[in-house]
Amino acid sequence: MSRILVLYTGGTIGMDHTPEGLAPVPGLLPRLLQRFARPGLEFDIVEFEQLIDSSALTPRQWNQILDALVSRYHDYDGFVVIHGTDTMAYTAGVLAFALRGLAKPVVLTGAQLPLVHPRSDGWSNLADALEAACQPDLNEVAIAFDRLLLRGSRARKLDVERFAGFNSPNAEPLAEFAIHAHWRKERWLKPDGEWNPLRIEENLKLAALMLTPGHGSALAGQVLRDGGLDGAVLLAYGSGNAPADPVLLDGIAAMTARGCPVLTLTQAPSGAVEVGAYAASQPLARAGALPGADLTPEAALAKLQALLSAGVSGDELRKRLVRPLRGEMTV
Ligand code: ASP
Repeated sequence: MSRILVLYTGGTIGMDHTPEGLAPVPGLLPRLLQRFARPGLEFDIVEFEQLIDSSALTPRQWNQILDALVSRYHDYDGFVVIHGTDTMAYTAGVLAFALRGLAKPVVLTGAQLPLVHPRSDGWSNLADALEAACQPDLNEVAIAFDRLLLRGSRARKLDVERFAGFNSPNAEPLAEFAIHAHWRKERWLKPDGEWNPLRIEENLKLAALMLTPGHGSALAGQVLRDGGLDGAVLLAYGSGNAPADPVLLDGIAAMTARGCPVLTLTQAPSGAVEVGAYAASQPLARAGALPGADLTPEAALAKLQALLSAGVSGDELRKRLVRPLRGEMTV
């Protein structure tokens, strides 16, 4: 017998047509979920008071999800978080870093089409998420979507049209669902340390800045210098290259001097930052930017959010940012 807690936060999956367009309808999804009742599976549903389109997500919702999950952690074998797809990868990243010592499955899912639509992908996503949440060896945060189970801190929303909305460009899936469920257990994380979940600091000021040819690098530099940021992700070109623009480099140096990290990522959809592959990667590193390897932007922001919320600072912060904490990067 598996006992699963389902947290319903909003998203397309539980929406219905309203005069304003698709919007979440309270009570609808818990009613539809009864279809999954079967011997051997017991589940309770917590519907959030304010169901949201996840484009409206703020750190407050992360703490609501964390509070709901942490307060019932010992009462359930696994957890399913039903979430809008727009920001699901950000939430998955935050949960992956905030749920320190997690030793149970936490599986996020949603859908491209609402359950009330005759061709909804939501049914199969929910079925796969529930099944994954019953796996006693899954000690991590994952996303179940379009017949794949992906590491939460590796997943990205990559398509808004096809049902294959998510993938993890730099990591193999944790499972594939076909006629049989293919659990790739050799890829699953082992539990790591004592259960010691974090709450998120809701007022951190983080930014992801994408370099573009022309004024883009100077604009990024100005935001880094004057934006009052606590941390930033810089989406550089290729394997971490950037023009040696003095405004950009000053901005990075100013952030670094204040103890506020700047992580260099690539704006390419897959692959990693490699300092030194090109001479054009060196100025960023010399100014103090940290190489983010193959972190996704979502996971990089989540990692900053969690480490800064935990009060990690100085050299320790820089050290932890460039090494994997929960399978989120390859070094
Ligand atoms: N806008 C929706 C949301 O993120 C999209 C979805 O759920 O697919 O809430």
